Amino acid sequence: MSYDLVVIGTGPGGYVCAIRAAQLGLRTAVVEKRKTHGGTCLNVGCIPSKALLHASHLFEEARDHLSELGIGVGAPKLDLKRMMAFKNEGVEGNVKGVEFLLKKNKIDVFHGVGRIAAVGQVEVRGEDGTNQMVEAKNIVIATGSDVARLPGIEIDEKAVVSSTGALELERVPKRLLVVGAGVIGLELGSVWRRLGSEVTVVEFLDRILPGMDGEVAKQFQRILGKQGIAFRLSSKVTGVEKTKGGLKVSVEPAAGGDAETIDADVVLVAIGRVPYTEGLGLEHIGVQRDAKGRILTDEHFATNVTGIYAIGDVIAGPMLAHKAEDEGVAVAEILAGKAGHVNYEVIPNVVYTFPEVASVGRTEEELKAAGIAYTVGRFPFTANGRAKVNRATDGFVKVLADAQTDRVLGVHIIGAEAGEMIHEAAVLMEFGGSAEDLARTCHAHPTRSEAVKEAALAVEKRAIHM
Ligand SMILES: Cc1cc2nc3c(=O)[nH]c(=O)nc-3n(C[C@H](O)[C@H](O)[C@H](O)COP(=O)(O)OP(=O)(O)OC[C@H]3O[C@@H](n4cnc5c(N)ncnc54)[C@H](O)[C@@H]3O)c2cc1C
Repeated sequence: MSYDLVVIGTGPGGYVCAIRAAQLGLRTAVVEKRKTHGGTCLNVGCIPSKALLHASHLFEEARDHLSELGIGVGAPKLDLKRMMAFKNEGVEGNVKGVEFLLKKNKIDVFHGVGRIAAVGQVEVRGEDGTNQMVEAKNIVIATGSDVARLPGIEIDEKAVVSSTGALELERVPKRLLVVGAGVIGLELGSVWRRLGSEVTVVEFLDRILPGMDGEVAKQFQRILGKQGIAFRLSSKVTGVEKTKGGLKVSVEPAAGGDAETIDADVVLVAIGRVPYTEGLGLEHIGVQRDAKGRILTDEHFATNVTGIYAIGDVIAGPMLAHKAEDEGVAVAEILAGKAGHVNYEVIPNVVYTFPEVASVGRTEEELKAAGIAYTVGRFPFTANGRAKVNRATDGFVKVLADAQTDRVLGVHIIGAEAGEMIHEAAVLMEFGGSAEDLARTCHAHPTRSEAVKEAALAVEKRAIHM
């Protein structure tokens, strides 16, 4: 069994890499330790969380808002078991899709834990204890990431859960405490709030969504607060005690001070993710990692060991499925002798709550820190016709453009469907477009996207509807 390429891990990075390599004529195999393909994203990440966000949003709409539109449905009844089945069906459809694509592209699949025995050799240990050796000219490590844990707090996936357990709860917890105000905590916190939980989010920093634009984070926190999520910023969770009456969570000021106790029924630990390299045998072959455990690569995804590459969550950069996919395509193209490349300046980032938050490019804080002079155009959805008629006016669009050249450097949106709208900004930025280019592009009326055009007009203080 000898291949041009063996990819370890079939998450969005690995399976996309394998497909692109096969398209380019490389004899390709994948190794996957899970029973199903698709990695974190399809099995316990993007896909199941979006299924629950969709279902819980519709539940809330039916309960609280449809009557305003003249649609009387009575009080909706939650069938959580059926909702979970709906989510699982969505996962199943997606993972089967990947299986089909691997087959269609004639990619050999080895199920088991992959270990790099030597340069050009991957040993696959099957669940039944069998061992196979697979030879490869090149190896791509795409083993992804795992949940980050809080020291001293044991995750049992029942009362103290990670995102994986939070996607599987059998009952709606009366009180859910979320540790961490990042994307995953806010998305899953929103799911359970909509289904009836009292949600408190405890965050170490003095803001939510670290890394996102500060103005966006502030307004988004206000919106989530109005929806009923309580925030405890600049605070840290130091312990969780299980008692008969539920969980006693110790919370202290981040800067130090007296601890207080918050009662909860379920605690969701969502403090981030860490690269996953267990069992790969990296020490043994000398692949270098950084202090955070991420595999070190050069701009061509090559590690320090010839013939071994790495992509996705296991290397530096945003832990996002589409970043992993693009790296998978790029490394496959490089291995096939082409010029694979990822533009890290233009990677969209989306929070799939309601409203959604979407951004691409630089934040105001980043531009200030880099000493880049910029102009800002803002446009609120309260002034957008479609948003008004749909009664979804929370949020705004913000366009950041270079003060000298007018080139768009960042776009940030809070609003319904922001995750779909952000891509016109991404395309514009890939082509080095200016705010004027965006402003002079005809946008269909009535659409929410007109707010993007208006924000671009506002860069020159000439928005029409404001
Ligand atoms: C709750 C949640 C929601 C998320 N939502 C989003 C979202 O909406 N959008 C987004 O872009 N990102 C989202 N993410 C992040 C996204 O899931 C990851 O960025 C993405 O899955 C990374 O892809 P990857 O291919 O690098 O790794 P992974 O998807 O983690 O895949 C790695 C694969 O490697 C396998 N593996 C590991 N070690 C071995 C080994 N030794 N041998 C064989 N196989 C091995 C694993 O079983 C796994 O299948 C979410 C994550 C979570 C947890």
